[in-house]
Amino acid sequence: MGLMIEKVRQLAERSEIVKYTKYKENNNDAKHLVKYQKEKDYEYYLCDYCYKEIKIANKWEERTGGVIELPLEFSNRGKVKVAMHNKCLKQFLKEMESEIINEKNKG
Ligand SMILES: [Zn+2]
Repeated sequence: MGLMIEKVRQLAERSEIVKYTKYKENNNDAKHLVKYQKEKDYEYYLCDYCYKEIKIANKWEERTGGVIELPLEFSNRGKVKVAMHNKCLKQFLKEMESEIINEKNKG
């Protein structure tokens, strides 16, 4: 069983892709204030391939990745939602392809 194929099978079991929130560092002046609230910096996903942050930017041209729905014949549901960087997705699809070819060659 290929690593990537196994990975996708696991991802297919996941119900939702978790969105995380990054907060700005507390600055010391504000810490003693009762009403001080953590200030939201940005939201992000974790890449299913490299496990690093994918910042959710408002402008699409600033986005390095996001949630993509992949049509995959070997998953039970037919489609798998993944969160990935654009560059990771490319690499991921390449590895998947060669694994699928390997599987088929095994007969
Ligand atoms: Zn990545």
